[in-house]
Amino acid sequence: MIIHFDYRPEYLYDALHELIRMAYPDAVLVREKNGQANMEIAIALNENTHIISIRGSIKDGARVTAEERSFELNAAEEGRRTEIKKRARIFTFRLLEEHLGQPVNSYGILTGMRPVKLIHRFWDQGMSAADIGERLQHEYQLQKEKADLLVEVAGNERPYLPDPETAGRLISVYIGIPFCPGRCNYCSFSGAVLHSYDNELRPFLAALRKEMEVIGVLINDLGLAVQSIYLGGGTPTVLSTEDMSRLFELLHESYISSATVEITVEAGRPDTLNPAKLRQLERLGVDRVCINPQSMNDFTLLQIGRKHNQEGVVRSVEWAREAGIKNINMDLIVGFPGETLRENMYTAEKILLLHPENITVHTLAIKRGSKMAEMGKAGAGASRVEEVRQGVDYFAAAFRQAGYLPYYLYRQKYMRANMENTGYSLKGHFCLYNIQMMEERQTIIGLGGGGASKFVNPGDWSLSSLYNPRNPDSYVESVETLIQRKVDKLKALP
Ligand code: SF4
Repeated sequence: MIIHFDYRPEYLYDALHELIRMAYPDAVLVREKNGQANMEIAIALNENTHIISIRGSIKDGARVTAEERSFELNAAEEGRRTEIKKRARIFTFRLLEEHLGQPVNSYGILTGMRPVKLIHRFWDQGMSAADIGERLQHEYQLQKEKADLLVEVAGNERPYLPDPETAGRLISVYIGIPFCPGRCNYCSFSGAVLHSYDNELRPFLAALRKEMEVIGVLINDLGLAVQSIYLGGGTPTVLSTEDMSRLFELLHESYISSATVEITVEAGRPDTLNPAKLRQLERLGVDRVCINPQSMNDFTLLQIGRKHNQEGVVRSVEWAREAGIKNINMDLIVGFPGETLRENMYTAEKILLLHPENITVHTLAIKRGSKMAEMGKAGAGASRVEEVRQGVDYFAAAFRQAGYLPYYLYRQKYMRANMENTGYSLKGHFCLYNIQMMEERQTIIGLGGGGASKFVNPGDWSLSSLYNPRNPDSYVESVETLIQRKVDKLKALP
């Protein structure tokens, strides 16, 4: 389906477009009228000093849904544009629901990636949990279960958020190793596959070393301390024993101190693991590893291009336990082609037998460029969406019953069923890095391929970001510039 959209004035694009895309996830949205569109969505807004009026229409063949409404504006000048956008979002959300005759987004007008941030802001203002829940439902149009979930997650995170006094001195560090032993069919990262250790990984590691050395010295000069370190990717466990050791030598030299309470390594693909590697990680100080099955159904693992089976996952978890790793996370994905509630139930049963401290439940987001998108294997339609909802709800119920708490949550574009990704944890095992990264109240320095840095001002929790390219060649080529930019940002921290 092709939808022609027309928002006026232009600034409404940011406010409305994602909402409309979520309502029609399989449609192509076009700005230019080209005669091929099957639908038209038009939203136009007029503003006076105290009143705005909004007109909207959805034309779908002969079916037309149209609405016009006026609102009084009470906001002060600096909050005026935000208030106008919110009104336009609520108006459009209701128009879409009226036209479709069903809910379009269980998160109401919230379309951002980090909805829990809003709850922390309300909490800072002194609102109670009950008032926040009410406000989310009535003002932001969230369904009650999602409002309750957000408040619960924020409540679980709250004790771990930095306070403004110490937030400036404590940071976390992400190191990206953007290589994998093969490419999963749902992955859109074309540079992921490691073909030659010597020609690809070695130059990358030399550049990473340079970046780590300069930033490590600066962290100490500025009197910053590292609370958590996350080695992600890709699959960092593609590194040889020697290279992993060298990397940790650098970390112990300049990054790890008595303030460092968590070191995670994403050992995502069980096919990169063996007992010696896991013992080495434990010796180097790693206390959390992610062993990610995604599904425990062998036919699915084969279909999505993972080079391991259920047995490989179970074995890897046993090796990690034998090595003395204290915290194991396991990532799951709901919505793979061919998987229904029955397969999700099987996965939940097998995962719970392994007693991981953390379980992260994602919903499949098919990105352009992935093999699955090219093969048109994403699956679409209302029944598929319903299956994904059932799977997510089932995991939530099964894991809660087994004692897990939802402790961080985020959303992504192109997710099946417009739901969420949720991190569950047994009490006392919350991953600090995940909380700090998601709620953006701690400076995070991203090093290596795809490393995202966030520089936070604890005065008002405002932030600025820098991104390292994920592609290893681009990273190697631009590392000097990336280092300099990071140095400037760190020196400018309040
Ligand atoms: S492990 Fe992750 S980064 Fe690597 S190919 Fe699979 S989805 Fe992509």
